[in-house]
Amino acid sequence: MRVATYCRISDDREGKALGVQRQREDCEWLVQSRGWTLAARYVDNDLSAYSGKVRPGYSQLLDAVRGGLIDGIVAWHPDRLHRSPRELEDFLTVVEQHGVAVETVRAGKWDLSTPSGRMTARILGSVARGESEHKSDRVRRALEQRASMGASHGRVAYGWTRSVLPDGTKVETVNEPQAALVRDLAQRIVRGESLRGIVTDLNAGGIPSPTGKEWGKTMLRHLVTRERNVALRVHRGEVVGPGEWPPILERGLWEQVRAVLTDPTRKTSTSSAAVHLLSGLARCGVCGGTMRASLNRTVPSYRCADKSCVSRNRRDVDEFVTGVVLARLARADVAGLLAPVDDGTRRAAAEVAELRSRLDNAADDYADGTVDREQFHRISERLRPRLEAAQARARVVDSRPLLAEFIGAEDARKVWEALPLSRQRGVVDLLVSIRVLRAAPGARVFDPATVEVTWKRST
Ligand SMILES: [Zn+2]
Repeated sequence: MRVATYCRISDDREGKALGVQRQREDCEWLVQSRGWTLAARYVDNDLSAYSGKVRPGYSQLLDAVRGGLIDGIVAWHPDRLHRSPRELEDFLTVVEQHGVAVETVRAGKWDLSTPSGRMTARILGSVARGESEHKSDRVRRALEQRASMGASHGRVAYGWTRSVLPDGTKVETVNEPQAALVRDLAQRIVRGESLRGIVTDLNAGGIPSPTGKEWGKTMLRHLVTRERNVALRVHRGEVVGPGEWPPILERGLWEQVRAVLTDPTRKTSTSSAAVHLLSGLARCGVCGGTMRASLNRTVPSYRCADKSCVSRNRRDVDEFVTGVVLARLARADVAGLLAPVDDGTRRAAAEVAELRSRLDNAADDYADGTVDREQFHRISERLRPRLEAAQARARVVDSRPLLAEFIGAEDARKVWEALPLSRQRGVVDLLVSIRVLRAAPGARVFDPATVEVTWKRST
């Protein structure tokens, strides 16, 4: 399929065409990932949406459609294509006459061959006229653009100070006391101190943290493992080149810290299950230990893996918890649970869920003796770096992209059933915590009151 990309930005104050470049990268990524042929690029930059001025790029695009030169159009968002309902109607006519496919990075496929597709386009069009809602998106994209060009933005990172040179250029220099602390922390971790122990020390000593809040393990881990420490620039979770700031850790020390903190034998809070919905996610209501899949005589169950305090029929618990979660996801306001997400983040979140599931699968296999310790460690060692990389990418927003499919879904259960188990587990883990309480002695029938489901966040 021959497609053309179309990019336009109406508010590119810096006049550097960054906005368009960004849109173009995304559009071309879409073209590539679909396996289409990029036949042409059309660009209109820095033109006001309502000025009524002729857009040369847009006119050329429509000419290409009329001339049968392209079979598809890829834009970043529908609001890049049309500036008014009038333009949209013209566009719809041309597209329909020539049977051209339209897809956008932000709003997906646009099926304009059906009345309902055209209606959606009209609704989107009128929404787009209130442009402002997309402004924040564009600001964010502009910031990302700067990140990929090596500039730092926002608050200066812990370990550095920002100074302004006489010519107005901003430079980052090392904040020696902060940098010394980061180095000290890295060395302590390499020497084998636990994150928990160090965090306790820091808080007890009243050492101010990077955020001003109490020190925590996640904060500490992030602080010492940041690529920034060795002056590597990261964009969307991937190293893209050297940064413009001085390093505060030696590369060797930094590599060691990362090796220690990704050691598969080191206990982390990334725990849990596998081929079963709640294995590793549900906790024992008596001792707080992890519930794992097991057989109670011949009945598939979840059992407290540490002390066998409680055991419960697996199917009953799965059914009950699924019901609770789906009842929440079926509510019309499910979109309120979601932060804006892009495809990259959504893919990363899915990958995190998948990798966690595989790790947990291995843990289950190890627990029931299907794999031995060595095999288990080999598996963990292979998966953990990938998990951490995916987590870093998913962290850009948070794990809420896991819920994306549920927005506007008519039948939440149907969406649920179509999800791979790893995603289902991700959704459960995102929304609720589960404790399995002791059942009444001799109870034969499953009592939902013995499974405590607690909502996380403001769900
Ligand atoms: Zn227990």
